[in-house]
Amino acid sequence: MKNNLNSDFDMRGRLLRLSEKFESAGCEALLVTSLTNIYYLSGFTGSAGLLWIDSDKALLLVDGRYGEQAVEEVEKSGAQIEVEMVGSQQAKRLKTISRATNRVGLEAQSVTWAKMKNLEGVFENSELVFTEGLVEDLRQIKDKGEISLMKTAAEIADKALASIWPMLETGVTEKEVSTALDEMMINHGAEGNAFETIIAAGPNSARPHARPGDRILSEGDLVVCDMGALYKSYRSDMTRSTRIGGIGTGKPAEMLEVVLEAQKAGLKTVKEGVPNADVDSACREVLKEAGLAEAFTHGTGHGVGLDIHEAPTLSGLTTDTLRSGQVVTVEPGVYLPDVGGVRWEDTVIVTEEGCELLTHSPKII
Ligand code: ZN
Ligand code: ZN
Repeated sequence: MKNNLNSDFDMRGRLLRLSEKFESAGCEALLVTSLTNIYYLSGFTGSAGLLWIDSDKALLLVDGRYGEQAVEEVEKSGAQIEVEMVGSQQAKRLKTISRATNRVGLEAQSVTWAKMKNLEGVFENSELVFTEGLVEDLRQIKDKGEISLMKTAAEIADKALASIWPMLETGVTEKEVSTALDEMMINHGAEGNAFETIIAAGPNSARPHARPGDRILSEGDLVVCDMGALYKSYRSDMTRSTRIGGIGTGKPAEMLEVVLEAQKAGLKTVKEGVPNADVDSACREVLKEAGLAEAFTHGTGHGVGLDIHEAPTLSGLTTDTLRSGQVVTVEPGVYLPDVGGVRWEDTVIVTEEGCELLTHSPKII
């Protein structure tokens, strides 16, 4: 039964597409242990649980704390998953469930060595198969419901940044700006930050992952603002850069302009079927012409969704091609220790024609 509320979230399709991958992954069933993946497939938000999926059933095993919550959340999501409260009987139950399964798939990214040792005992009659990125691969293509939540997350970030933008003047600290920005995102409806907000001024802006500190914004400082909102478990990601006192002239002005050109070139390249690496090289080409290639020290972008960094990757190292429905960032930056840093970042949906921007904050330079 599907209700209108959830028809934009293709819960049935997610399970179906996942089980279709089992054969090539060399397993007959999958034990999903990543809580993010469990949420994606079942809607369950608890901090402990296991999801068993084989050819004829999907079972969410939870303990007593989560019984009622799990039933409610799974039902609300529309996923065809049974919930069982197993408490201390988890291992015993898994043993019974897996009796007819020769090869049980495990999620390599989320099973620790200790957990693995434990599961070897539980599935003593089955062969354990390590799988990689089965659910993460599905998560790359966002459905209508996910896109709508991500649009809201991006919109919240846009509004919050607009409301604190006038604060970017001399005399205020990075920390004061980031605290105000975080509060503003909550005021506009966010559950929290998508990740720790970066407000980096002056020499700190030359560090791509700087943490906001006591640096007082000063005349001539380059300032990098990298921020995102968390809304109903989905995230947005956006970076805007500026210079205190105006764009001015010289190296900082050149960096603001050239990186923006590089980002435009990257955004123009994004389109279904295009190699991810082409987006990266489009950005790098512009920076190379300006003699700033060496100062671009990270990849061009990444997927965003339930996690702030998820598949795919947009860098020169990947051989993947872009697919319609992926949500990715395009974020070239240059960092010169003596001058500062500049980064422009937007989150976009890949389409057949190109891409659609989710983040809309103006790029004032
Ligand atoms: Zn970012
Ligand atoms: Zn990013």
